[in-house]
Formats: sequence, structure tokens, C-alpha cells
Amino acid sequence: MRIDLHTHSRVSDGTDTPTRLVLKALEAGLDVIALTDHDTFDGVPEAVAAGERVGVRVVPGIEMSTDVAGHSVHLLGYGCDMHNPALNRELVALRTGRSRRLPVMCEQLSIAGVPITMEDITAASQSARALGRPHVADALVAKGYVADRTEAFDLYLAEGRPGYVARYSTDLARAITLVHEAGGAAVIAHPWARGNHDVVTASLLESLVAGYGLDGIEVDHEDHDADTRRLLFEMGARLGLVRTGSSDHHGEGKKGYGLGCNMTRKSAYLELVSRIRSRGGVV
Ligand code: AMP
Ligand code: FE
Ligand code: FE
Ligand code: ZN
Repeated sequence: MRIDLHTHSRVSDGTDTPTRLVLKALEAGLDVIALTDHDTFDGVPEAVAAGERVGVRVVPGIEMSTDVAGHSVHLLGYGCDMHNPALNRELVALRTGRSRRLPVMCEQLSIAGVPITMEDITAASQSARALGRPHVADALVAKGYVADRTEAFDLYLAEGRPGYVARYSTDLARAITLVHEAGGAAVIAHPWARGNHDVVTASLLESLVAGYGLDGIEVDHEDHDADTRRLLFEMGARLGLVRTGSSDHHGEGKKGYGLGCNMTRKSAYLELVSRIRSRGGVV
């Protein structure tokens, strides 16, 4: 069984429609994918319908923007009831925070000598529901200031660069609770990516398992080297966490994160399914 539990469509910052993403998953020989757009479920119904047509199982998912002591941590939620009121209220707050920072980013980018307007970002983001820095990056590319998203992040958008503006994110423990109350399973995405080694520590994970029933961690991810994967795999085993693997595919938006480049073992997938079932979630 070929299982990829972390993918994005252009409903957030991927570049494929949900339908195209599912067709690509079929071409890649995948049996199961989870659509985990940032802070929105809006792509899920289309992806599930496409999956039913072509025989790819689509797990409803979300990637929530969360906060641990001022640091950004991404939380994957699988099998949530997409209509759960408390979860949806929080997703609205996250998307509002995403949109509110954009005019400030425009001002800062203008000062940095690469002016773009809100209209440029809207044009670049097309039908996206959750707006992010990748859409700002696309606007900078369209203006000819940078070659691609990577260069846009390196020069202007990464934390510490002149166009960076912080935004609201949900406390991590609260996000885990919201996912559980919506019937889902909660898995920390790429825990040790981008300097987060000292944020998502063993003791934090231990307390999230003990206090909040955290379900799993993503181990096999392109942002983790071989040593990192081995350490996280062992730590996850010690803590009784489900250990997943996935591509974090963003279409053309992120080079080298091809669908199925990392996968989740069948046993790990079935454990997540069983936890979702026991909470009354959707699988
Ligand atoms: P935001 O959601 O606005 O905080 O932007 C974060 C998103 O930007 C992540 O989900 C990644 O998809 C994307 N991202 C971060 N760094 C890069 C990069 N160097 N190149 C392309 N995309 C990136
Ligand atoms: Fe993304
Ligand atoms: Fe992420
Ligand atoms: Zn992602």
C-alpha cells in the first residue's frame, strides 16, 4: 500500500487543483493521500469526489498553524468533522490573521524596493482560501523581482527578512484538543524542520502525549536528514507515537517534494484510522 499523508492544493499554497492533485496521485501509484491544506478544509470535498471516481482514497486533512512559545509549529489533523463549530471558528481566526498581515507585507516590501499591491497578491493566489507567503512570493516572481518562490523566501519572506510579518497562530496544545474534539487524529508535521529541533523537544512531546493525547509525529519528510529521521523514529517509538512519512507536496511551488517521495507505513496508517474511528471522526 502506497500512502502519502501530507499534500497541498491551490486552495492553500499548492499549485494543483484538488482534482489534479488526485489524478497526479493516481499516476504516482498512490493508494491513499491526505489533502492537508493550510488552515482550510475547502479543497477536501472536491478531492474526495475525484478520489472516488479514480480509486484513490482521500483522507480529509488539515495543516494548522500553531504556536509554541513564539515559534511556528505545524499540526496535521486527520479525519476531523469538517463542520465542527469550534474548529471552524479557529480556522476563521487563522485565515483572518493570514489576510490581515498582507497589507503590512506590501508596505515593508515597498520599503525594501520591491513594491507589490494587494491586487498583485490576489491575482497570484487565484482561488486560494488560505493566503500565505508563497502567494506573496508568486506576486514577486510575476513582477520579475525574483526567479522563484525559494529566492523570494531567501531574500524577502523568511523570518528575519525585510518582508516578514508575524501572524496569529493557535496554541499547539489547544489545536490538538480542537482536532480531537472534531473526531480527528493529531500529528505534528516536520517537527525538526527549519530550526525547530530546539522547539519540539523530547520533553515537549512527552508532555503533549501525557497531557493532550498527541497521536503522532511526521518522521520521513524532505526537511529531515537521515540522522534526524532515525532519532525521531526512536523517540516516537519510546513515546508511543504513530510515526508517519509524507511528501508535503505543493505542486510546482516547492521543488523536490514530489508526491510519494516519502510514505507512511500501512501499520501506522491503520493505527491512525483506528484512533479516528474510536473518536467518531471521518475515514
Ligand atoms: P505562511 O503559511 O504564510 O506562514 O508561509 C509558510 C509556507 O511557505 C510553508 O507552508 C511552505 O509551504 C512555504 N515555504 C516556506 N519556505 C519556502 C521556500 N524556501 N520555498 C518555497 N516555499 C516555502
Ligand atoms: Fe505550505
Ligand atoms: Fe508545514
Ligand atoms: Zn505542508
